[in-house]
Amino acid sequence: MRSRTVLWLLAWVAVSEGLLAAGEVRIGVLGLFHPQRLELRTVGRSWAVISGCGARVVMDPQASDSVAVLELDSGKVRLAVQGKTRSCQQVQIAARDGNAVEFEIRVPRKIQRKYLGVGMVSASRGELEAIVRMDIESAVAAVVAAESSQDTPLEALKAQAVAARSFLASKESGHTTFDFCDTTHCQFLKEVPTMSSAPAIATIATKGKVLIYAGRSLAAMFSASCGGKTKSLRDIGVEAKGYPYFEVECPYCRRMAEQWRRRSDKAPTTKSERERLRIGKAEGWSAIPGNNYRVVQENGTTFLEGSGAGHGVGLCQAGAAAMARDGMNYEAILSHYYPNTTLGVVR
Ligand SMILES: [Zn+2]
Ligand SMILES: [Zn+2]
Repeated sequence: MRSRTVLWLLAWVAVSEGLLAAGEVRIGVLGLFHPQRLELRTVGRSWAVISGCGARVVMDPQASDSVAVLELDSGKVRLAVQGKTRSCQQVQIAARDGNAVEFEIRVPRKIQRKYLGVGMVSASRGELEAIVRMDIESAVAAVVAAESSQDTPLEALKAQAVAARSFLASKESGHTTFDFCDTTHCQFLKEVPTMSSAPAIATIATKGKVLIYAGRSLAAMFSASCGGKTKSLRDIGVEAKGYPYFEVECPYCRRMAEQWRRRSDKAPTTKSERERLRIGKAEGWSAIPGNNYRVVQENGTTFLEGSGAGHGVGLCQAGAAAMARDGMNYEAILSHYYPNTTLGVVR
């Protein structure tokens, strides 16, 4: 373990700028709510400009009319702001110089979230599509905040930050109009945490660092609790095009992972992740909590007995937290859960 860590650290490389484009990511936000109507407003003391539909409206955060209401209108966005209504393809919110601004998007009666970036709203497939173009480091901090629990030790948060940044830098999501969505399909992302929060500290401490495999940033996967051993992609029925992932022992989960047992009327036909998600969708996500289980027949009834939660591929969050509590640093945690990768830097 120790010698491997040292070797791995020696392999620390700065990847050339040409390979990894730094900077910004486009996150599709709140698509889960299929919004027909959205409200945009400035936050705090930020002046913002709403532009689109031939209008350029400066929003004073102090003014009572500093809300823009956007509604779907036969394939277009209808923008109502400061007493005027117009329709067009896309509406943008940005700072007066066109750069990032702090703003809030609200889906009335459902949710409101604050972002720091440039917001764009267009009509797409019968709903409003909101995209926030934000600095990749802000996105990393927001992912770490959304994906980790309060009591996670700092070195585990740093490992999570590198994994999140690697995923974002890889730009492998399958989306077309934006780079990533804000759900677990890509990576869970809510609001950007304050600078003094642990997720922000972990992000700043690892600024720019990503996992590299075969010269590219790895779309690093992680899960809540592997149940004792992590899985390769092949184990969960996924063909590996890039990093194949490897089975890695996870002593913490081996001892401590939550054991579960479920009666199953329709036993899964394969142990693929696709099958687990299909059953989860039909019967609820607790039907098969994780991918580490066996099928047991008892008096003609089928039971699934397993441990842990999630797909079990890549970094194990429970195991990473335990390693951090045992005094390991984030580099050791990453080299354990992502063997044969190196750390690189996005410039
Ligand atoms: Zn997605
Ligand atoms: Zn584990």
